[in-house]
Amino acid sequence: MKGTTSMGRMGRGKTHITCRRCGRHSYNIRKKFCAACGYGKTPRRRD
Ligand SMILES: [Zn+2]
Repeated sequence: MKGTTSMGRMGRGKTHITCRRCGRHSYNIRKKFCAACGYGKTPRRRD
């Protein structure tokens, strides 16, 4: 393959980590909330 792959700007610093509540890799470190379940953003869980 030539050129850059699908890893555009995912070189330095990770933006999302594994969410502790839903287990998805959607917890945004910068925004401090999970994009999938809303952990960190919504105090109460809606599941
Ligand atoms: Zn989550």
